[in-house]
Amino acid sequence: MQEALLYEKLNDQTVKCNLCAHHCKIKPGKSGICKVRKNTDGTLYTRVYGRTIARHIDPIEKKPLYHFYPGSSAFSIGTPGCNFHCSFCQNCEISQVVNEDILEMGHKASPEDIVKEAKQSGCKSIAYTYTEPTIFFEYALDTAKAAKEAGLKNVFVSNGFMTAEMLDVIGPYLDAINIDLKAFHHDSYKRLMGGRLQPVLNSLKKVVEMNIWLEVTTLVIPGVNASGSELHKIAHFIADELGVDVPWHISRFFPGYKMNDVPITPMGTLNKAVKAGQEAGLNYIYIGNVPFSSEQNTQCPGCETTLIERSGYSILSNRIDNGICPECGSRIAVID
Ligand code: SF4
Ligand code: SF4
Repeated sequence: MQEALLYEKLNDQTVKCNLCAHHCKIKPGKSGICKVRKNTDGTLYTRVYGRTIARHIDPIEKKPLYHFYPGSSAFSIGTPGCNFHCSFCQNCEISQVVNEDILEMGHKASPEDIVKEAKQSGCKSIAYTYTEPTIFFEYALDTAKAAKEAGLKNVFVSNGFMTAEMLDVIGPYLDAINIDLKAFHHDSYKRLMGGRLQPVLNSLKKVVEMNIWLEVTTLVIPGVNASGSELHKIAHFIADELGVDVPWHISRFFPGYKMNDVPITPMGTLNKAVKAGQEAGLNYIYIGNVPFSSEQNTQCPGCETTLIERSGYSILSNRIDNGICPECGSRIAVID
């Protein structure tokens, strides 16, 4: 086991973890809420360093990141564990450590192994994803440092519940991040995810201040966050606090895990969210989890010409010329 970073030693061999906003106080022999950080005799260890439970080459569009090297591939890794317990988690088999055996599963791979594989496979970036990268912070940090040296980009796909201290440490190595803004009510975060809203809002603002490319995802769930007023609050927070050029991915919910009795998000609700985004002034709004939707394409905010045409995770055409719309000359918020 590798000693953890970002923790304090308290009295009686208790430790306080400062990696995420839970700030768990952990007694000897016990683990934090994520179950992957364990106190052994007054030292906090991470139990997932150097072991991946998921490892795939994905289109960057799958993260989703639509404005960050469109059409490129991301070498994507994840370890077991998460600091949230979302009732709608699509990766609950690996995110929820219900049985400690899961911590021993997967493949051993050093940060250098990951970087070597990513380079050999022609990927542009390494994505820390599938579960919550905050939880495998030490592993992600060492990999991100090695990746940077090798000329690769680093992207996080996160629930945003990390601390400012963590962002300060990883920030210099991070090129892009997609953060879920799962609701705009503290109660929903508490009841359905086991978290809190405010730390997520803080992380979103800090990422923008740190100049890390940001895209935001909201899974729209009937009965949870699909009311007009909640969608307006989310859209306005993105536009007013983060910027109108931050892409908003509105994702369709499908029943699963502990929410089998909730229906699929109706198209009308997704369109209502798009309208909320437009009214808030957002320039780039996408609908996800709906194959062949025209709301997957990137349009010029100046003249509404379709600039990037997508089908699923594939790019069919990209007309953006050095960050400029060829039709009207507007600058497009894209990193390429
Ligand atoms: S990462 Fe978060 S959940 Fe895990 S031990 Fe630290 S504070 Fe607790
Ligand atoms: S934050 Fe993501 S990985 Fe973690 S429980 Fe929620 S949906 Fe699953």
